[in-house]
Amino acid sequence: MDDNVNLVIKLTNDCNQRCQYCYNYNDGRRQQNTYMEKGMIENLIKNALAYSKTSCTFCWHGGEPLLAGIDTFKYIIDIQKKYNTNNTIINNNMQTNGILLKRDIALFFNENNIGVSVSLDGPFDIQSSTRQTNKFNYNRIIENLNTMNELNIPFSVLTVVNKETLGHEQSLFDFYTYYNIQKVGLLPCIVANKNEVNRELTLTPDEYGSFLIKLFDIWCKSTNYNLSFRDFDEYFKFIQGKKPVYCVHSNKCGNVLVVDTDGKIYICDEFPFTEENCVGSADQPFELLDESLNLSHFRSMNHSIPIQCQTCEYQGFCNTGCLFKRWLRDSSFHERQLFCESDLLLFRHIDSVLSKLMFNKQPGAPPIAI
Ligand code: SF4
Ligand code: SF4
Repeated sequence: MDDNVNLVIKLTNDCNQRCQYCYNYNDGRRQQNTYMEKGMIENLIKNALAYSKTSCTFCWHGGEPLLAGIDTFKYIIDIQKKYNTNNTIINNNMQTNGILLKRDIALFFNENNIGVSVSLDGPFDIQSSTRQTNKFNYNRIIENLNTMNELNIPFSVLTVVNKETLGHEQSLFDFYTYYNIQKVGLLPCIVANKNEVNRELTLTPDEYGSFLIKLFDIWCKSTNYNLSFRDFDEYFKFIQGKKPVYCVHSNKCGNVLVVDTDGKIYICDEFPFTEENCVGSADQPFELLDESLNLSHFRSMNHSIPIQCQTCEYQGFCNTGCLFKRWLRDSSFHERQLFCESDLLLFRHIDSVLSKLMFNKQPGAPPIAI
């Protein structure tokens, strides 16, 4: 394994929301409502730090990780200090739905450098269209975001673009601006397994591509220079000769492993938690992960290039995309990824716009007209 250990950890599979697109509930092969025990958290941190030579990134995930309680996070920080005898660089971050992100928790995270990403799909009508969110819970999330802003604590937002979002690109952009949201990751709503795609909930590539183009154009014309979108930034970085940071474009699938509440480790959070995707256990030395045939098989797929990608003008950037989206299209990984078409629409649109525009030098800022 890479010296830089990267883990997504399911502190719990329980959640206080039920998003219709959530893989936790749609997969059918994941545990429900379980919590990672303290002994397992300790073993995981001890073994990860003993293995890592340079850095260790822990993404505390769920379900809803804040259901595990603030004491669990205090315990995590204590255990990391206890076992960090190699002075490994430790990065902590957390993906939360924001309902429980109260002032004291926000302050604790800030003091301990735990990065916060909030799963938030936009204004109430959009957010509630795919989940049983009531107005009360939604207002709590918004209050918590306001508190984060008052305290000057940085956070990012992860938005799943669903059918209800389409046609409301300007409202979504205004929403980000109004709540001072500065970093946004976008994902198309996909509800699928390798046998079938749920067409009612899943966007089509054309729908998602057209959404991205509209949002990009709004962003270009906006004077909100503080707002950046991961999808656009990554492409600009590539043009400037920088490496992508997002796994989807780095062709390194198998480097971000996911740990379930029972300590079993799997190839990636997107795939079903099955025996064939299991690569080890958090209570064993991490050196054993290097011997996992499931992991080496998965990683070998990074080197297989679908025929469409071989002649694609964007392969240098896209790097054949996400193995999970390739698996959804074809479980033998021979086909290009699902949603390749939306990416191509976006890349071509950005190229056509860039031919008429120049970059604003301010980091994260949108391009401005010449
Ligand atoms: S399969 Fe997709 S989500 Fe998983 S590591 Fe690869 S690019 Fe990332
Ligand atoms: S944009 Fe599509 S065809 Fe091109 S490299 Fe990516 S997945 Fe392959």
